Amino acid sequence: MALLAGLTDATVFPWIALVFGLCVGSFLNVVIVRLPRMMEREWQVQCAELAAEHAAPASASPKAEADAPFNLVVPRSGCPQCGHMIAAMENVPLVSFAFLRGKCSACRAPISPRYPLVELAGGLVAGYAALRFGFSAMAFGAMLFAWALIALAVIDFDTQLLPDDITLPLLWAGLLFNLNGTFVPLGSAVIGAAAGYLCLWSVYWLFKLVTGKEGMGYGDFKLLAAICAWLGWQALGMVILLSSVVGALVGIALMTFTSHGRDKPIPFGPYLAAAGLIALFWGDAISRKYMPLLA
Ligand SMILES: [Zn+2]
Repeated sequence: MALLAGLTDATVFPWIALVFGLCVGSFLNVVIVRLPRMMEREWQVQCAELAAEHAAPASASPKAEADAPFNLVVPRSGCPQCGHMIAAMENVPLVSFAFLRGKCSACRAPISPRYPLVELAGGLVAGYAALRFGFSAMAFGAMLFAWALIALAVIDFDTQLLPDDITLPLLWAGLLFNLNGTFVPLGSAVIGAAAGYLCLWSVYWLFKLVTGKEGMGYGDFKLLAAICAWLGWQALGMVILLSSVVGALVGIALMTFTSHGRDKPIPFGPYLAAAGLIALFWGDAISRKYMPLLA
Protein backbone atom coordinates (compact mmCIF):
# COMPACT_ATOMS: atom_id res chain seq x y z
CA MET A 1 0.00 0.00 0.00
CA ALA A 2 2.87 2.33 0.77
CA LEU A 3 4.22 1.73 -2.72
CA LEU A 4 0.86 2.43 -4.33
CA ALA A 5 0.50 5.58 -2.26
CA GLY A 6 3.97 6.59 -3.42
CA LEU A 7 3.13 6.03 -7.08
CA THR A 8 -0.03 8.11 -6.87
CA ASP A 9 1.71 10.93 -5.03
CA ALA A 10 1.16 14.29 -6.71
CA THR A 11 4.88 14.89 -7.23
CA VAL A 12 5.76 11.34 -8.35
CA PHE A 13 2.79 10.51 -10.58
CA PRO A 14 3.59 13.01 -13.38
CA TRP A 15 7.13 11.60 -13.69
CA ILE A 16 5.87 8.03 -13.88
CA ALA A 17 3.30 9.14 -16.45
CA LEU A 18 6.04 10.88 -18.44
CA VAL A 19 8.21 7.75 -18.62
CA PHE A 20 5.24 5.51 -19.40
CA GLY A 21 4.12 8.01 -22.05
CA LEU A 22 7.53 7.85 -23.73
CA CYS A 23 7.09 4.07 -24.10
CA VAL A 24 3.57 4.53 -25.44
CA GLY A 25 5.01 7.09 -27.86
CA SER A 26 7.39 4.40 -29.09
CA PHE A 27 4.38 2.15 -29.73
CA LEU A 28 2.57 5.04 -31.46
CA ASN A 29 5.45 5.12 -33.96
CA VAL A 30 4.69 1.48 -34.82
CA VAL A 31 0.98 2.25 -35.21
CA ILE A 32 1.73 5.30 -37.38
CA VAL A 33 3.94 3.34 -39.78
CA ARG A 34 2.05 0.05 -39.87
CA LEU A 35 -1.67 0.80 -39.58
CA PRO A 36 -1.93 2.50 -43.01
CA ARG A 37 0.00 -0.39 -44.58
CA MET A 38 -2.26 -2.92 -42.84
CA MET A 39 -5.30 -1.10 -44.23
CA GLU A 40 -3.78 -1.06 -47.72
CA ARG A 41 -3.12 -4.80 -47.58
CA GLU A 42 -6.68 -5.44 -46.48
CA TRP A 43 -8.02 -3.38 -49.39
CA GLN A 44 -5.82 -5.30 -51.82
CA VAL A 45 -7.17 -8.60 -50.52
CA GLN A 46 -10.75 -7.33 -50.77
CA CYS A 47 -10.20 -6.04 -54.32
CA ALA A 48 -8.60 -9.32 -55.36
CA GLU A 49 -11.48 -11.28 -53.84
CA LEU A 50 -13.99 -9.11 -55.63
CA ALA A 51 -12.10 -9.48 -58.92
CA ALA A 52 -11.86 -13.25 -58.44
CA GLU A 53 -15.63 -13.46 -57.91
CA HIS A 54 -16.19 -11.95 -61.32
CA ALA A 55 -13.35 -13.78 -63.08
CA ALA A 56 -13.24 -17.42 -64.18
CA PRO A 57 -13.65 -19.81 -61.21
CA ALA A 58 -10.20 -21.35 -61.87
CA SER A 59 -8.31 -18.12 -61.00
CA ALA A 60 -5.55 -18.17 -58.39
CA SER A 61 -6.37 -17.65 -54.74
CA PRO A 62 -6.24 -13.93 -53.95
CA LYS A 63 -5.09 -14.67 -50.43
CA ALA A 64 -1.61 -15.93 -51.35
CA GLU A 65 -0.07 -12.44 -51.29
CA ALA A 66 -1.30 -11.51 -47.85
CA ASP A 67 -0.33 -14.79 -46.22
CA ALA A 68 2.76 -13.44 -44.44
CA PRO A 69 1.42 -11.94 -41.18
CA PHE A 70 1.77 -8.17 -40.90
CA ASN A 71 0.29 -6.44 -37.87
CA LEU A 72 1.29 -4.24 -34.96
CA VAL A 73 3.34 -7.06 -33.38
CA VAL A 74 4.66 -9.12 -36.30
CA PRO A 75 7.16 -8.81 -37.97
CA ARG A 76 9.67 -7.25 -35.59
CA SER A 77 10.80 -3.72 -36.43
CA GLY A 78 13.89 -3.41 -38.59
CA CYS A 79 15.95 -0.73 -40.30
CA PRO A 80 14.17 0.15 -43.58
CA GLN A 81 17.60 0.53 -45.25
CA CYS A 82 19.44 -2.67 -44.31
CA GLY A 83 16.80 -4.75 -42.51
CA HIS A 84 18.84 -4.85 -39.28
CA MET A 85 16.50 -6.05 -36.51
CA ILE A 86 16.14 -3.44 -33.79
CA ALA A 87 17.39 -4.89 -30.51
CA ALA A 88 15.72 -4.12 -27.19
CA MET A 89 18.61 -1.83 -26.19
CA GLU A 90 18.12 0.16 -29.41
CA ASN A 91 14.42 0.55 -28.69
CA VAL A 92 14.58 2.62 -25.49
CA PRO A 93 12.57 5.81 -26.14
CA LEU A 94 14.71 8.93 -26.74
CA VAL A 95 17.77 7.38 -25.06
CA SER A 96 18.53 5.04 -27.96
CA PHE A 97 18.13 7.75 -30.56
CA ALA A 98 20.56 9.98 -28.67
CA PHE A 99 22.96 7.12 -28.03
CA LEU A 100 22.94 6.03 -31.70
CA ARG A 101 23.19 9.71 -32.71
CA GLY A 102 20.17 9.20 -34.97
CA LYS A 103 21.79 6.48 -37.10
CA CYS A 104 21.16 2.76 -37.63
CA SER A 105 23.71 0.77 -35.61
CA ALA A 106 24.36 -1.56 -38.56
CA CYS A 107 24.41 0.57 -41.73
CA ARG A 108 24.59 4.11 -40.26
CA ALA A 109 21.56 5.18 -42.32
CA PRO A 110 19.94 8.20 -40.63
CA ILE A 111 16.84 7.53 -38.51
CA SER A 112 14.06 10.07 -38.96
CA PRO A 113 13.95 12.55 -36.05
CA ARG A 114 10.20 12.04 -36.13
CA TYR A 115 10.54 8.86 -34.06
CA PRO A 116 11.96 10.59 -30.97
CA LEU A 117 9.60 13.54 -31.53
CA VAL A 118 6.53 11.28 -31.41
CA GLU A 119 7.98 9.55 -28.31
CA LEU A 120 8.54 12.92 -26.67
CA ALA A 121 5.01 14.05 -27.54
CA GLY A 122 3.58 10.84 -26.06
CA GLY A 123 5.56 11.42 -22.86
CA LEU A 124 4.80 15.14 -22.53
CA VAL A 125 1.03 14.80 -22.94
CA ALA A 126 0.94 12.00 -20.36
CA GLY A 127 3.12 13.89 -17.89
CA TYR A 128 1.08 17.05 -18.34
CA ALA A 129 -2.24 15.19 -17.98
CA ALA A 130 -0.96 13.68 -14.72
CA LEU A 131 0.24 17.05 -13.47
CA ARG A 132 -2.97 18.77 -14.47
CA PHE A 133 -5.58 16.25 -13.33
CA GLY A 134 -3.77 14.30 -10.59
CA PHE A 135 -4.20 10.57 -10.04
CA SER A 136 -7.75 10.32 -11.44
CA ALA A 137 -9.92 8.86 -14.19
CA MET A 138 -9.63 12.25 -15.85
CA ALA A 139 -5.84 11.93 -16.11
CA PHE A 140 -5.99 8.44 -17.63
CA GLY A 141 -8.75 9.49 -20.03
CA ALA A 142 -6.80 12.56 -21.09
CA MET A 143 -3.74 10.39 -21.80
CA LEU A 144 -5.71 7.96 -24.00
CA PHE A 145 -7.38 10.86 -25.81
CA ALA A 146 -4.07 12.66 -26.41
CA TRP A 147 -2.17 9.55 -27.58
CA ALA A 148 -4.93 8.69 -30.08
CA LEU A 149 -4.89 12.28 -31.38
CA ILE A 150 -1.10 12.20 -31.85
CA ALA A 151 -1.30 8.96 -33.86
CA LEU A 152 -4.20 10.27 -35.97
CA ALA A 153 -2.49 13.59 -36.67
CA VAL A 154 0.71 11.99 -37.96
CA ILE A 155 -1.10 9.28 -39.96
CA ASP A 156 -3.32 11.90 -41.60
CA PHE A 157 -0.28 14.07 -42.33
CA ASP A 158 1.47 11.10 -43.99
CA THR A 159 -1.36 9.40 -45.83
CA GLN A 160 -4.42 11.68 -45.72
CA LEU A 161 -6.20 8.85 -43.91
CA LEU A 162 -7.87 8.84 -40.51
CA PRO A 163 -8.30 5.12 -39.78
CA ASP A 164 -11.69 4.00 -38.43
CA ASP A 165 -9.68 1.62 -36.23
CA ILE A 166 -8.67 4.66 -34.15
CA THR A 167 -11.44 7.25 -34.65
CA LEU A 168 -14.35 4.94 -33.81
CA PRO A 169 -12.90 3.38 -30.61
CA LEU A 170 -11.90 6.91 -29.59
CA LEU A 171 -15.53 8.00 -29.95
CA TRP A 172 -16.85 5.05 -27.90
CA ALA A 173 -14.16 5.56 -25.26
CA GLY A 174 -15.17 9.21 -24.93
CA LEU A 175 -18.81 8.26 -24.34
CA LEU A 176 -17.79 5.56 -21.83
CA PHE A 177 -15.53 7.91 -19.87
CA ASN A 178 -18.40 10.37 -19.68
CA LEU A 179 -20.90 7.79 -18.39
CA ASN A 180 -20.04 9.17 -14.96
CA GLY A 181 -19.45 12.66 -16.28
CA THR A 182 -15.64 12.40 -16.06
CA PHE A 183 -15.12 15.31 -18.46
CA VAL A 184 -18.67 16.46 -19.28
CA PRO A 185 -22.17 15.14 -18.50
CA LEU A 186 -23.16 12.17 -20.70
CA GLY A 187 -25.85 14.21 -22.46
CA SER A 188 -23.29 16.79 -23.60
CA ALA A 189 -21.03 14.01 -24.86
CA VAL A 190 -23.75 12.27 -26.90
CA ILE A 191 -24.99 15.53 -28.41
CA GLY A 192 -21.36 16.54 -29.01
CA ALA A 193 -20.62 13.34 -30.96
CA ALA A 194 -23.68 13.73 -33.17
CA ALA A 195 -23.25 17.48 -33.65
CA GLY A 196 -19.53 17.13 -34.39
CA TYR A 197 -20.21 14.65 -37.18
CA LEU A 198 -23.17 16.52 -38.59
CA CYS A 199 -21.40 19.85 -38.55
CA LEU A 200 -18.49 18.82 -40.82
CA TRP A 201 -20.80 16.59 -42.88
CA SER A 202 -22.87 19.68 -43.72
CA VAL A 203 -19.78 21.72 -44.55
CA TYR A 204 -18.58 18.89 -46.81
CA TRP A 205 -21.81 18.69 -48.78
CA LEU A 206 -22.23 22.44 -48.99
CA PHE A 207 -18.68 22.76 -50.29
CA LYS A 208 -19.25 19.93 -52.74
CA LEU A 209 -22.50 21.38 -54.06
CA VAL A 210 -20.95 24.83 -54.54
CA THR A 211 -17.50 23.91 -55.88
CA GLY A 212 -17.93 20.31 -57.07
CA LYS A 213 -14.81 19.39 -55.04
CA GLU A 214 -14.31 17.39 -51.90
CA GLY A 215 -12.85 19.63 -49.21
CA MET A 216 -12.30 16.96 -46.56
CA GLY A 217 -12.93 13.31 -45.88
CA TYR A 218 -15.36 11.31 -43.81
CA GLY A 219 -12.52 10.61 -41.38
CA ASP A 220 -12.60 14.29 -40.40
CA PHE A 221 -16.29 14.04 -39.43
CA LYS A 222 -15.59 10.99 -37.29
CA LEU A 223 -12.60 12.67 -35.65
CA LEU A 224 -14.61 15.76 -34.69
CA ALA A 225 -17.40 13.49 -33.44
CA ALA A 226 -14.85 11.65 -31.27
CA ILE A 227 -13.34 14.89 -29.91
CA CYS A 228 -16.79 16.18 -28.93
CA ALA A 229 -17.69 12.81 -27.40
CA TRP A 230 -14.87 13.55 -24.93
CA LEU A 231 -15.27 17.31 -24.51
CA GLY A 232 -19.01 17.78 -25.11
CA TRP A 233 -20.90 19.92 -27.59
CA GLN A 234 -19.74 22.99 -25.68
CA ALA A 235 -16.26 22.46 -27.17
CA LEU A 236 -17.51 22.24 -30.77
CA GLY A 237 -17.26 25.94 -31.58
CA MET A 238 -13.81 26.30 -30.05
CA VAL A 239 -12.41 23.21 -31.79
CA ILE A 240 -13.69 24.33 -35.20
CA LEU A 241 -12.46 27.87 -34.67
CA LEU A 242 -9.01 26.80 -33.43
CA SER A 243 -8.50 24.20 -36.17
CA SER A 244 -9.61 26.59 -38.91
CA VAL A 245 -7.40 29.42 -37.72
CA VAL A 246 -4.31 27.22 -37.32
CA GLY A 247 -5.11 25.38 -40.57
CA ALA A 248 -5.52 28.61 -42.53
CA LEU A 249 -2.28 30.08 -41.14
CA VAL A 250 -0.27 26.93 -41.89
CA GLY A 251 -1.93 26.59 -45.32
CA ILE A 252 -1.10 30.17 -46.27
CA ALA A 253 2.46 29.74 -44.99
CA LEU A 254 2.88 26.51 -46.99
CA MET A 255 1.62 28.11 -50.20
CA THR A 256 3.71 31.25 -49.69
CA PHE A 257 7.01 29.80 -48.55
CA THR A 258 7.08 26.36 -50.18
CA SER A 259 6.13 24.85 -53.51
CA HIS A 260 3.00 23.34 -51.97
CA GLY A 261 0.44 23.50 -54.78
CA ARG A 262 -2.84 25.33 -54.28
CA ASP A 263 -4.74 22.28 -55.50
CA LYS A 264 -2.91 19.77 -53.33
CA PRO A 265 -5.14 18.78 -50.43
CA ILE A 266 -3.98 19.88 -46.99
CA PRO A 267 -5.11 17.30 -44.44
CA PHE A 268 -7.47 18.79 -41.87
CA GLY A 269 -7.00 15.99 -39.30
CA PRO A 270 -3.77 17.32 -37.73
CA TYR A 271 -5.45 20.68 -37.05
CA LEU A 272 -8.55 19.07 -35.60
CA ALA A 273 -6.30 16.93 -33.39
CA ALA A 274 -4.26 19.95 -32.26
CA ALA A 275 -7.45 21.88 -31.52
CA GLY A 276 -8.81 18.91 -29.54
CA LEU A 277 -5.66 18.81 -27.40
CA ILE A 278 -5.74 22.57 -26.78
CA ALA A 279 -9.44 22.39 -25.87
CA LEU A 280 -8.79 19.47 -23.50
CA PHE A 281 -6.02 21.18 -21.52
CA TRP A 282 -6.80 24.88 -21.87
CA GLY A 283 -10.41 25.01 -23.11
CA ASP A 284 -11.81 26.33 -19.84
CA ALA A 285 -9.15 29.01 -19.54
CA ILE A 286 -9.65 30.11 -23.16
CA SER A 287 -13.42 30.37 -22.88
CA ARG A 288 -13.17 32.25 -19.56
CA LYS A 289 -10.79 34.75 -21.13
CA TYR A 290 -12.38 35.25 -24.56
CA MET A 291 -16.09 34.55 -24.12
CA PRO A 292 -16.72 37.95 -22.47
CA LEU A 293 -15.13 39.56 -25.54
CA LEU A 294 -17.54 37.79 -27.89
CA ALA A 295 -20.60 38.45 -25.76
ZN1 LIG B 1 20.35 -0.13 -41.16
